[in-house]
Amino acid sequence: MPRLFNFSAGPAAMPLSVLEQVQQELVELPGQGMSVMEMSHRSKRFEEINASAEARIRGLLGLGDEFDVLFLQGGASLQFSTVPLNCLQAGESADYVLTDEWSTKALKEADRVADDRGACARVAATTKDENFARVPRQDELDLDPKAQYVHITGNNTLFGTEYFYEPDTGGVPLVSDASSHILSRPLTVNKYGLIYAGAQKNLGPAGVTLVIVREDMLRALPPAVPTMLDYKIHAKAKSLYNTPNSFGIWVLDLVCEWLEAQGGLAGIQTKNIEKSALLYDAIDATGFYRGHAGTESRSRMNVTFRLPSEELEEKFAAEATAAGLDGLKGHRDVGGLRASLYNAFPREGAVALTEFMAEFERTNG
Ligand code: PMP
Repeated sequence: MPRLFNFSAGPAAMPLSVLEQVQQELVELPGQGMSVMEMSHRSKRFEEINASAEARIRGLLGLGDEFDVLFLQGGASLQFSTVPLNCLQAGESADYVLTDEWSTKALKEADRVADDRGACARVAATTKDENFARVPRQDELDLDPKAQYVHITGNNTLFGTEYFYEPDTGGVPLVSDASSHILSRPLTVNKYGLIYAGAQKNLGPAGVTLVIVREDMLRALPPAVPTMLDYKIHAKAKSLYNTPNSFGIWVLDLVCEWLEAQGGLAGIQTKNIEKSALLYDAIDATGFYRGHAGTESRSRMNVTFRLPSEELEEKFAAEATAAGLDGLKGHRDVGGLRASLYNAFPREGAVALTEFMAEFERTNG
């Protein structure tokens, strides 16, 4: 079977050259006599891979020494708990901006920690009334200047919205769930105290969670916090406190190397703007397709759109799959169609989808 154009929201398309390199080097990592999966995480070679992955993340994002770069496990979902466990203590408050179901889940976990500790997780803004069709503007944010942090979801995978500005928090650290747009464009990193992301969209295979944390966010924790959920422990051990997802970190390093060859974050940003514009232009061309996201919040990673009826949406997704355009059905809680165009998704796939859209409208419009 030929490789499909994979529009899946995650796990998602990987760079083909990386897959081929993994295939070639899987049985024996060059010069090692064994696979990376068989190698001690305490070996010199694996420590080099771990350090290389960290250095590439630092280089791509331009991170200073004040940031620790951690490769953890448990997915972005575990960070929903780990962030408040580390950063929200008794009597303190944190602000949450709700822009989709992921930020709502993040708030739910923060509430659990807050209730247990006598702290507070506050909603600073939400666009739920508008079916999360955009992210809030700066003037809509009701921020508490005494908050420990302001949590945002940088890109909203389900509804297809993205922040194109860093909220001005008056010096309160921003915490971003960047799972679905990490490394897709340059970021003003000094605005953030913490950035986290599951790997399975833009970084590599599922099972690695990237956490970038500024040192002033690391604090002494109440004794009940499990060791494995203490950022300081992982920072001190350079992500090697226990056995990491060594295979995943190896592939992440290769994906970052590929990204460097694309011109880094500025280079990939140009490509991502171009790919997403192809689809948004096709959506806007006639009244048949309707974009979900407001134009100012349109995600470059997840393009969400509707057709005139749910029947047509079902038909569209089924026929697209048959035509080699896979994974376009929207999230089960949201409906509609969603085309995810992460870094590794090829431009030809976006062109093929626009051609399919035009033909589908001609025969069904
Ligand atoms: N946050 C966002 C923005 C996501 O898109 C996802 C997964 N699609 C998650 C969190 C949950 O990630 P994980 O499955 O790694 O826990």
